[in-house]
Amino acid sequence: MGYNVKTFCFQDSPRRAHSIAAQGGINAAKNYQGDGDSTYRLFYDTIKGGDYRSREANVYRLAEVSTNIIDQCVAQGVPFARDYGGLLDNRSFGGVLVSRTFYAKGQTGQQLLLGAYSAMNRQIGRGKIKMYNRHEMMDLVVVDGKARGIITRNLVNGEIERHSAHAVVIASGGYGNVFFLSTNAMGSNVSASWKIHKRGAHFANPCFTQIHPTCIPVSGEHQSKLTLMSESLRNDGRIWVPKKLQDVKAIRAGKLNPTEIAEEDRDYYLERRYPAFGNLVPRDVASRAAKERCDAGFGVNKTGEAVYLDFADAITRYGKEQAHVKGLDENDAVLVKKLGQEVVRAKYGKIFQMYEKIVDQNPYETPMMIYPAVHYTMGGVWVDYNLMTSIPGCYAIGEANFSDHGANRLGASALMQGLADGYFVLPYTIGDYLADDIRTGPISTDSPEFEAAEKEVKKQIEAFINNKGKHSVDYYHKKLGKIMWDKCGMSRNEKGLKEAIEEIKALREDFYKNVKVPGTADEFNEQLAKAGRVADFLELGELFAKDALERTESCGGHFREESQTPEGEAMRDDKNFTFVSAWEYKGEPSKAKLHKEQLEYEEIEVKTRSYK
Ligand SMILES: Cc1cc2nc3c(=O)[nH]c(=O)nc-3n(C[C@H](O)[C@H](O)[C@H](O)COP(=O)(O)OP(=O)(O)OC[C@H]3O[C@@H](n4cnc5c(N)ncnc54)[C@H](O)[C@@H]3O)c2cc1C
Repeated sequence: MGYNVKTFCFQDSPRRAHSIAAQGGINAAKNYQGDGDSTYRLFYDTIKGGDYRSREANVYRLAEVSTNIIDQCVAQGVPFARDYGGLLDNRSFGGVLVSRTFYAKGQTGQQLLLGAYSAMNRQIGRGKIKMYNRHEMMDLVVVDGKARGIITRNLVNGEIERHSAHAVVIASGGYGNVFFLSTNAMGSNVSASWKIHKRGAHFANPCFTQIHPTCIPVSGEHQSKLTLMSESLRNDGRIWVPKKLQDVKAIRAGKLNPTEIAEEDRDYYLERRYPAFGNLVPRDVASRAAKERCDAGFGVNKTGEAVYLDFADAITRYGKEQAHVKGLDENDAVLVKKLGQEVVRAKYGKIFQMYEKIVDQNPYETPMMIYPAVHYTMGGVWVDYNLMTSIPGCYAIGEANFSDHGANRLGASALMQGLADGYFVLPYTIGDYLADDIRTGPISTDSPEFEAAEKEVKKQIEAFINNKGKHSVDYYHKKLGKIMWDKCGMSRNEKGLKEAIEEIKALREDFYKNVKVPGTADEFNEQLAKAGRVADFLELGELFAKDALERTESCGGHFREESQTPEGEAMRDDKNFTFVSAWEYKGEPSKAKLHKEQLEYEEIEVKTRSYK
């Protein structure tokens, strides 16, 4: 659009942004399958999927531009999967009954990122973009009430730099790593969002977190990362646990193989509870259902926190189809299995390979074991319809903002929203702001505001380096993660949340007294970078718990035990909670002030969400 842009990322290349992890796909209401999809239907599914806690107008716009995103990406050269006839292919994701997900094998995020990265490089080549790799944004500089630049740290040599601008855009991703263990990239953090929050940007719905149902279960104390098995697997995989506790016991003791359990002794609990959507219920519903079965004692691994995701039926179904197509014997079980496995390999091979490498079991032969894990944060920086935060001239896009997913995000819609924001919303809205501002000429970095922000950044770094502490940064991050998972995780209650607030406060105090950061400030120092990020997580965690405590209803991924139906489903309280919680920073998380943005639905009737 003709602007001169500086971009920053903390990795050695923006190609390594967390987005490369996105496996499953990206939604768009193209209706290529002729199964009744439309802009309205995507809009409706997204609002319903978010449990009626998202802004209606934003979601409608998202649905409208969704189709343009696919065209844009194809033009950039993104190799989406194609069907036999050469048209773009689709698959289904949870929470919807149409097939609208575009994908590139199990690497959709990577391919989309490469498309965007190539386009960006063209602008770098033209001199319109200056890229700063290995630079961490440390603070926002606000001059006369407007965002006028940032302070960065060069992560290679530790240099603190000032960068001025007429507007600042934060696209720093989600904060799921506040839980320590999550499916997010190890580097994903809240710091850029948190820094602008401390400078005046409201933080919205911090407690709205997505726990994804299909992840590899936690294996032990020393794990630092959890791995997602793409939701696309639920297209073909069936989720179950044994019906009989003695079978569970035998499995855990290694005396029984799941493949030996008879069909009638298996509980396909999603199909049983939600016959209309079955294994394709939204993530919050599927996660809670897995927890319910495991809490009842039916978990199938040693820790009792795993359920099966089984492809045996899909392998047989595809195998028979292939045998029929090839004119071979459909009753030859060995042949059918072989042919079926080939189809499954073509669709999900990379994901199956990943599972086998991590778990050392062959998922073509034995059901996968899965359990819910922290995956995505619907909460984030509050933005208006133009994606501007409450600081004039400061914008937030992608997972960093709270915008479109309400209390639960549907699969394959994060990439859609991030790309809608970046390709089709911000380019138009930012111009509106810059039009009044662009004639101010270059913004000086010599102002007292830049001076003060830089000083604060340096002060924190020196404090970390000079602290004579005894515990590593990870020691605190792990402790925080445990509090978050136990008390602010898949289900929450008043007592636990109050305890979490006190425990996080105490942990934060201890962190500043006793954290040990090795090395110096003027070298590549991962521990130092991490200390700053964990410091921010320790503040966010408290606001998260406060937000969850305040919202006494259950909605989407936010499950308050006090607010559930007799069947254990989330029970919303529309009368009192049809609003976005936008928190204003007031010195520390406990003093944050709540602003309520009322949500109004004109095009959609607000109903109890049902997938039965
Ligand atoms: C395992 C996994 C699979 C997923 N699969 C899908 C899927 O199939 N479909 C889908 O729609 N969604 C999926 N998601 C969600 C989706 O991947 C993310 O929501 C999305 O990629 C976020 O993109 P983003 O650009 O907002 O942030 P990111 O990709 O996280 O990028 C953030 C960028 O900000 C930079 N940054 C952050 N902080 C700073 C700082 N302080 N200073 C400088 N730079 C900074 C980073 O360097 C990075 O480049 C998945 C998520 C996970 C965890």
